[in-house]
Amino acid sequence: MIVMKLGGTSLEDAAAMSTACEIIRSRIKRKPAVVLSAAAGITNALIRCAELAAEGKRAEAEAVLRDRIIERHYAVVANLIKGLREQDMLIRLFKAYDEEIRSLIYGISITGDLSLRVLDFVMSYGERMSTAIVTEALREANVRAELLDSRHCMVTNSSFGRAEPMFDATQAACEKVIRPRIDKGIVPILQGFVGADSRGVTTTLGRGGSDFSAAVIGTVMQADDIEIWTDVDGMLTADPNIVPGALRIREMSFREASELAYFGAKVLHPSTLLPAIEKDVPVHILNSRRPQVEGTLIKARIDPVNIPVKSISYKRGITIINITSTRMLGSYGFMKKIFDIFNEYQTSVDLVTTSEVSISLSVEHSPELEALIAELAKYGEVTVLREKAIICVVGERLKSEIGTPARIFSRLRGIPVEMISHGASEINLTFVIDEEHVSDAVLELHDEFFSSIAEPGVFE
Ligand code: ASP
Ligand code: MG
Repeated sequence: MIVMKLGGTSLEDAAAMSTACEIIRSRIKRKPAVVLSAAAGITNALIRCAELAAEGKRAEAEAVLRDRIIERHYAVVANLIKGLREQDMLIRLFKAYDEEIRSLIYGISITGDLSLRVLDFVMSYGERMSTAIVTEALREANVRAELLDSRHCMVTNSSFGRAEPMFDATQAACEKVIRPRIDKGIVPILQGFVGADSRGVTTTLGRGGSDFSAAVIGTVMQADDIEIWTDVDGMLTADPNIVPGALRIREMSFREASELAYFGAKVLHPSTLLPAIEKDVPVHILNSRRPQVEGTLIKARIDPVNIPVKSISYKRGITIINITSTRMLGSYGFMKKIFDIFNEYQTSVDLVTTSEVSISLSVEHSPELEALIAELAKYGEVTVLREKAIICVVGERLKSEIGTPARIFSRLRGIPVEMISHGASEINLTFVIDEEHVSDAVLELHDEFFSSIAEPGVFE
């Protein structure tokens, strides 16, 4: 069996959904379980409804619900579903959802209280609607599709807004709910992003979490393949907005892809690969707008290649915090104190460099940053540098080609570099520069490593 995940842009309107159904049909022989996102923009619109309600703007919230969510789904039904009975069934379902969401808006607006728990419930409607439509469309195309409720399969903890899957319970649930259908030749259709805790309360896995849903389900079910269908050709050697000639990477290792997912490449949700790595389930990235393109295959072991660098990614909006303290000299426990503070403010650190008396850390900008910096100032002299960017150069062979760092930095002459970290995994070389130099740096590095590629098997 395989797991196929189709993202929001692959479901944005009737035409896209129809293509999505074709893609699913083309995979029937491989026994797919299908995981879907909400149609593009719907999750944002649902959040907007809830926020407006919390501000007491009930009428505005209801207008967003009607114009940006419900009407849009009615239109898709009208344009995609042929059978009148099926149309009617879906319209009635969405009318019921409309009423439920209105009640939620009403509740949120009179209490002015929008908890993460309620927000998760509100957001779940996006995936529930997209999956209902696709299931009907598939049936009309003679596919034995069955709509399932992911809350019966994806078991999570109760960290609303960013719930974590409980693997053993999820595995048991998937074996019970999904496996028998697959065995009977049925195509189960599931909501990505949505789950439930052990008491059955609706949760979500965090924004962009449908990829993660697919990976978790594919892993616990030991799928032969996890296909992530999105709107780009796969992982590229650089952001095509900066490097128009960026190449598609045909194969990457899990380690390479994880580094890229984490440092900026927006193709995959950063947690997606973690479960797949553990059970060695390959992950394919494919483009639903160009299904004929092979995409990118991510797996544990890849054929050796002759070039040291696979991709160059970046992340803007980085702040560097330097802490200098003579107390650090020869003492222990200092680092722990510093990291405890980051832990307390739930701020994750991307890069760290240290010297005998100072430590530099890079973090993403967040509202908690000011309070965190004030706390750090109790332990040493703190300086903060803003509007920075991380550049991350990734490749399995980076560790064995000793001349690579020299090639990288000689191309960056004239661009001041703040922090350099040659990751512990040694397949990435990461450094920080001013945000304004991102394009120049990425272009220079891409030119250095990809202008004369003689590996047509690796890149395209
Ligand atoms: N619909 C959710 C979101 O927009 C999950 C996903 O699309 O992956 O964040
Ligand atoms: Mg996504």
